[in-house]
Amino acid sequence: MPRFQPIPPLGHPPLWVRARALTLPGLTLLLAACTSVPLPPWTPPATRHPASPRVSPETSAQAAPAVVQVFPVASPAIIGALPTAPAGQFAPDSAAVAARFPAPSVIYNTPGLQAGRTTFTTQAEISAWLHDQTAAAARSAGIKAAVLSIGESQRGVPLEALILTSATSTDPTTLLAAGKPTVLLMGQQHGNEPAGSEALLVIARELAQGLLQPMLQNINVLIVPRANPDGAASNQRVTANGLDMNHDHLLLDTPEAQALARLTRDYQPTVVVDAHEYVVAGRFLQKFGALRKSDALLEYATAANLPEFLTKAAEEWYRRPLLAALKGQGLSTEWYYTTSMDLANKKVSMGNTWPDTSRNVNGLKNAVSLLIETRGVGIGRQHIQRRVHTHVTAITSVLNSTAQRASDLGQLRPYIEKELSAEACKGEAIVEAAPTPTQHELVMLDPVTGADKPITVDWNSTLVLQTLKARARPCGYWLSAGSTKAADRLRLLGVQVLRVVEPGSLLGDSYQETSRATDQDQEVRGAIASGNSIVKVQVSLARGVLDAPRGSYYVPLNQPLGNLAFAALEPDTQSSYFANHILDSLPSTVRVMTEPTIKLEELP
Ligand SMILES: [Zn+2]
Repeated sequence: MPRFQPIPPLGHPPLWVRARALTLPGLTLLLAACTSVPLPPWTPPATRHPASPRVSPETSAQAAPAVVQVFPVASPAIIGALPTAPAGQFAPDSAAVAARFPAPSVIYNTPGLQAGRTTFTTQAEISAWLHDQTAAAARSAGIKAAVLSIGESQRGVPLEALILTSATSTDPTTLLAAGKPTVLLMGQQHGNEPAGSEALLVIARELAQGLLQPMLQNINVLIVPRANPDGAASNQRVTANGLDMNHDHLLLDTPEAQALARLTRDYQPTVVVDAHEYVVAGRFLQKFGALRKSDALLEYATAANLPEFLTKAAEEWYRRPLLAALKGQGLSTEWYYTTSMDLANKKVSMGNTWPDTSRNVNGLKNAVSLLIETRGVGIGRQHIQRRVHTHVTAITSVLNSTAQRASDLGQLRPYIEKELSAEACKGEAIVEAAPTPTQHELVMLDPVTGADKPITVDWNSTLVLQTLKARARPCGYWLSAGSTKAADRLRLLGVQVLRVVEPGSLLGDSYQETSRATDQDQEVRGAIASGNSIVKVQVSLARGVLDAPRGSYYVPLNQPLGNLAFAALEPDTQSSYFANHILDSLPSTVRVMTEPTIKLEELP
């Protein structure tokens, strides 16, 4: 065990317990003056110069209908034929409610959407479809596509991704060197949310051989149509072992989340879209006597410590065009929202601030990270064409925005990465943040008449976060030599981890446990029954000199993913590696408070 010799505090205030409100002021040019990397000009889409050679915003907003109208159309007999759900499994919409959701003017014909089908596209059909797209792309000059094997599900089902590009090769090195933004589209992390998966097959085909193909001149696209095939096979939300993989993107306990992390680490997408569906009735009907209405619920990353410029890009370059594109198709939208299982608690929350979901973790990886949810859980195949149309319209808008902003995004990413790297050893970072309580009018539906039912709810907004706990940002973290599992998980996230080559001393703060509770957090951990409880501790810090032995680890924060390492390694949060048993003990982590002078090496 390394020796950690406490030294008395130097009269500094306990920064780590001083709460402060996070403000989100408008971005200023002062930021730009601090760096040699020029900021992208912040031109709102509506005022962009019409002479711009890029796709105009107007074209962007209208692109979705122009594209989708030419998709192959199946028999008109499908229109209006709403397959009935298995008895007892669903509570399908009443006729009056169903009338509010007419089928779109196009019909999508993926395998799972064929007339007469009662099951969605099978895993074998998805694989065949992806391979068909690579063959089709090969017939187009200048387009390359490949099916990537990215892992296996817990039941041994191959996990596959499709990469499409106009670069000379599909490997990450070539794509990163070419410098065009890569968009990662993923669907069906939750197995009972099929519309995103079917829509991604449509998108794959239109990129490989359809009207979206010209976008590949400006962007690369990675598609993982079905991230959780085991869950899909049994129409369940969670993976085979009962974990909610959408909360596993920091811990990486599941092979499914690991596969996505590896893909993200290698291709470093600039934009990530996570396609889901949401519960229509359930506890919302029980709490509010109403059904949820919106065709699409949208949100971007809302974790603490996100660069303001990234949030601004998500809002102005992506969400606003998304709203216009969906409105143009007669599709309604709302912020993503959820509510607790406690029927007495009628508070409604925008998605959480925890750094565990794809949405938030990919934001902390400095991607524009978007969540798109359609109205689909609990209603079987009802309105499935409209649900797929919503996803296709939304994703087309995201691809359009990326193609249009490729140059701006190419400046934004290095700017953000430089700024974040420069934050090491400086200021404070937020350990725990909470949404801001406010009120919001939700338009829901009367379950009998189908009429709009506006309801004003207590609403937790994640657009402005309250800091509950902040702490001085260290220069890096020392991890004991036994912390190999944590080091491996961090590296899979793309975080740089170094190893101590020669023993030496580090000045740092160790964590002293002041209280402890264990808690089974259902929302975070899903329906797991394996006793994987979370260790919730409160800590104080003690300054000291650490003798770091050879073979122990150092995680520097002067790297672009420093805030992701901070999220994993500060122990006193429900998402942390300590709370979730990836790090076994508090003394295995020390906050290093001055730049280390000991000899370090890159891991192989
Ligand atoms: Zn979901």
